[in-house]
Amino acid sequence: MDFSISDRMQQVTRRVRAFVDEELIPLERDYLTQGFRVVLDALREKRAKVKQEGLWLPQIHKEYGGMGLSTLEHGLVSAELGRSPLGHYTFNCQAPDAGNMEILIKYGTDEQKERFLTPLLAGDIRSCFSMTEPDYPGSNPVWMGTTAVRDGNEWVINGTKWFSTGADGASFAIVMAITNPDAPKHLRASQILVPIDTPGVCIEENTPSMGWRGEDWASHSRIRYENVRVPVDNILGPDGAGFLIAQDRLGPGRIHHCMRWMGVCERSFELMCRYALQRRVTPDHTLADQQIVRAWIAESRAEINAARLAVLHAAWCIDQCGPKEARVEISLIKFHAANTMMRVIDRAIQVHGGLGTTDYTPLALFFRNERAGRIYDGPDEVHKLSAAKRILAQFTEADV
Ligand SMILES: Cc1cc2nc3c(=O)[nH]c(=O)nc-3n(C[C@H](O)[C@H](O)[C@H](O)COP(=O)(O)OP(=O)(O)OC[C@H]3O[C@@H](n4cnc5c(N)ncnc54)[C@H](O)[C@@H]3O)c2cc1C
Repeated sequence: MDFSISDRMQQVTRRVRAFVDEELIPLERDYLTQGFRVVLDALREKRAKVKQEGLWLPQIHKEYGGMGLSTLEHGLVSAELGRSPLGHYTFNCQAPDAGNMEILIKYGTDEQKERFLTPLLAGDIRSCFSMTEPDYPGSNPVWMGTTAVRDGNEWVINGTKWFSTGADGASFAIVMAITNPDAPKHLRASQILVPIDTPGVCIEENTPSMGWRGEDWASHSRIRYENVRVPVDNILGPDGAGFLIAQDRLGPGRIHHCMRWMGVCERSFELMCRYALQRRVTPDHTLADQQIVRAWIAESRAEINAARLAVLHAAWCIDQCGPKEARVEISLIKFHAANTMMRVIDRAIQVHGGLGTTDYTPLALFFRNERAGRIYDGPDEVHKLSAAKRILAQFTEADV
């Protein structure tokens, strides 16, 4: 087994790391203390620089203007970008736009690509994915209340969604709605492209989440769709394929999150080690001299290494046989990586004491924002159930 990283990828990850260190980390203090909009102008300049350096859209095929990296290679880049909460946005591989790009590439018509995908790839607009509803369980995505009823050449959409990440300032939403209420449950819903300025689309609020409403891309909105009319051609893929497309979107999407979390782990770990070495508990001793802090450092390193290998292995499985065949690996890393990350962030905060709870380091933002990683794209419990079901199916009664 060869764990080496190709010369090309070593060079790419070195450049990405330098960009994050030199261009993005200096902007973090303003973002953390004053909000995302404050850094938007600066990020626009950084995005132009990323394009010039040929590092734009690492996850997208070359024919669509990206770097054409494999899932495994993008994992290595994503772990570097995840060291800063501004990393993925600046390279245009942030959720939910990255997932929306993937499904538009796979299912979009030429007209849909020209209108929605091209400006999204260029970074001129943003989008959101509007599936979860306040009154239905997001973990059972075949059951929802939003409907799209055909009226002549239009869909008429009614329903309420929440947690639509990045809807504030987005140009369009991809909305999951029931179009075939009498079909088998996996064929009832469709995905429909809805420009946000369509009459009847009402962003009611940016939902307060862990004490923050956020703004612009860094927010999650509650949206009411009231008699929203869009052309029938705005359907993405075949009528009734909404669930299938959502599954297509979520497989690689989960991997992208796990890889980003490895970056969150590494940054938290770096901060923990640096602070432990520098903070004196007496004139003669630092935190790093304390046995318990050393144990946290060793445990964190071991846990990050293990999670990182499991994530990269799942990415490799996707590259070899596709997301469907890698379902068990994806489910396992989804809850394992999220929990590893939360333990590492928590230890890093503990080492920083009161400072760890302030917005003078990114640790508090990591703690607030990333806790949701155990819930979105499938809660821990659902992934455990689904992985265990498939694992158990490998054992026949004769084995018992
Ligand atoms: C920060 C954040 C960003 C998000 N972004 C988006 C977005 O962009 N677009 C979008 O559409 N949605 C988004 N979501 C919504 C997210 O996908 C849902 O929250 C998630 O699917 C869970 O659905 P729910 O909140 O309705 O919880 P429920 O489905 O009501 O589940 C509640 C809890 O019950 C438990 N549970 C559920 N099912 C089972 C089971 N079968 N067995 C055992 N326990 C179970 C789990 O612990 C779960 O956490 C986001 C959520 C968050 C927090």
